[in-house]
Amino acid sequence: MSEYGIFLYIPGKKYLGGFIFFLIFILKSVCYLVMGIQKRTDREKFSRLRQTLLHLASEIKGLVEPLFSDRPVIKGTVYELKRKCGKPGCKCSRGDLHRSMVVSASEGGKTRLQVIPDGFLVEVQGKVRRYQELRRVRARLGEIHRKMLKVMDQMEGMRREELSSSGKKRSGGG
Ligand SMILES: [Zn+2]
Repeated sequence: MSEYGIFLYIPGKKYLGGFIFFLIFILKSVCYLVMGIQKRTDREKFSRLRQTLLHLASEIKGLVEPLFSDRPVIKGTVYELKRKCGKPGCKCSRGDLHRSMVVSASEGGKTRLQVIPDGFLVEVQGKVRRYQELRRVRARLGEIHRKMLKVMDQMEGMRREELSSSGKKRSGGG
């Protein structure tokens, strides 16, 4: 009877041990899988952030080009001004208004108006366009700057290692 009992007991325990081993193996595998996926997604996210940083940096390189120029700029607007001169008997009094191209600019709350002499329209338009380009570049650089700082902070957060508090507790307790 006891022999029979031992005979049953030993394979039973072997089976249980095998089952526990299998269970631990499965749990370990799931843990490694989850940790692996986590690590991979972190790596992919970090890689994407790195790419974003690289793109923004290369965009800056392209943007600064117009800043190297020393050609004059005008902060203003070019448009056609139609007006009456006020002289009696002039064509403008009959509705045929005087037309001239002007450039207007507001400085310190005042709007200045300057008539563009014949033949200078293209030149003035170029100066106005270059000013607008400068402002556009400036605005974009500000945007890129803010984006880069945001990406940089994200990357820093992913790289940062916190000091473990266990060492602190041990030294404090002992
Ligand atoms: Zn007139």
